[in-house]
Amino acid sequence: MRSRDSATPAGYRAVTLCQAQCDRSVACWGSRKNDAESWAVSSVRFTCVISVRDDLRALQGYHSAQVDVRIRLNTNESPEPPPTAFRDAMAAEVSNIEWNRYPDRAAVALREAIAESHSVDVAQVFVANGSNEVLQTVLLAYAGPGRTVATFEPTYQMHAQIARVTGATVVEGQRADDFTLDPNEVERVITGSQPHVVFLTSPNNPTGLVEPMERVRQILDLAPGLVVVDEAYAQFSDWSALELIDEDTPMVVTRTFSKTWSMAGARLGYLIGPSWLVAELDKVVLPYHLDAVKQIAGRLALRFASDMDDRVRQTVAERTRISSTLADLGTTVFPSGANFVLFRPDGHEGRAVWQGLVDRSVLIRDCSGWPRLANCLRVTVGTPDENSAFLDALGEVLADRSTRLQLSLQTSSETSLETSQNGADQ
Ligand code: PMP
Repeated sequence: MRSRDSATPAGYRAVTLCQAQCDRSVACWGSRKNDAESWAVSSVRFTCVISVRDDLRALQGYHSAQVDVRIRLNTNESPEPPPTAFRDAMAAEVSNIEWNRYPDRAAVALREAIAESHSVDVAQVFVANGSNEVLQTVLLAYAGPGRTVATFEPTYQMHAQIARVTGATVVEGQRADDFTLDPNEVERVITGSQPHVVFLTSPNNPTGLVEPMERVRQILDLAPGLVVVDEAYAQFSDWSALELIDEDTPMVVTRTFSKTWSMAGARLGYLIGPSWLVAELDKVVLPYHLDAVKQIAGRLALRFASDMDDRVRQTVAERTRISSTLADLGTTVFPSGANFVLFRPDGHEGRAVWQGLVDRSVLIRDCSGWPRLANCLRVTVGTPDENSAFLDALGEVLADRSTRLQLSLQTSSETSLETSQNGADQ
């Protein structure tokens, strides 16, 4: 009923008593004079332990395995830091920051630079702390209780996660076995649930597949609400939905500085969309949400576009090498337009292969317990040396009989446990 609270040595945690007396589930700290405990101790501190919203109870938080290894190819980052000249320019500008002042709330200089790089109007650009925050802002404005959000699984798990956190209902369409998006499934989901927001990820994470333009057009034709195309990896693919953006189309494209721009550490993302929609997002986002350092970093990074294009070319070339070697090693390889490759080591247990790689100091993403991705693993394209080390290690692991698939290895309960532990993804 009541226990000594180690975090508040002077007080008691009187959960049951307090919940009985407070009919609202809010945290209440303080001193009460007329309950039993107050007679014993003159000034009693206690708290009602507030319970989380009912609809959040089953949600898992963000997880990504942190293992101490030599080669990290698990979170789709750029393997290289930004160019030295970027860091020098950054150091010079940071020394001029007026630290005692709030940053430019509208981040005009940064938004102008992004607008120029995409030949759009500055009023069509919204910026936030990583594209995850961009997505969250979109969903706060356009999803929420009583609204529906559609996704096509498997896809980037944060879309459904953030939508649920806003209180929206998520309708999950299913991709085909080869992870392409069947037009009939698109029609079934959209006409059936009339979602307020539809998500597409192109290239898709974790599968790597690029959505064809006709699929985006089909969704635009059918969707009664907003279409969000998450293009975190677009620079590594052949086409972008950006060309479909205009003032009359309820569609946005989201991008990030975390991959191509080698700036995952800075947390910067943006959205291109109709200016009337960007204006709505500005109402939702917190004042001064984007700090001065980040505004400078984003603006300066865009000056190094040709260095970044070179890196993208190298990544794409390495992706081709990885994919063909994975196929030579006998795995099923899914075609990728991103900076990672999804593969299935057929005949082997995915988790055991992942562990074998960790044992050789190579960390990739274990997707083998995720829904629809049984036995699948995802490797981020690293530097040529890192990729070679990964492929060599994988060759050794696959030659080792102990990773061979045995039918009894994975029970359904193990599968569902892993699924929930891997609830969110980079
Ligand atoms: N969208 C997709 C498809 C992603 O894979 C990720 C992160 N890996 C994000 C968005 C979030 O990126 P950011 O670092 O900009 O928040």
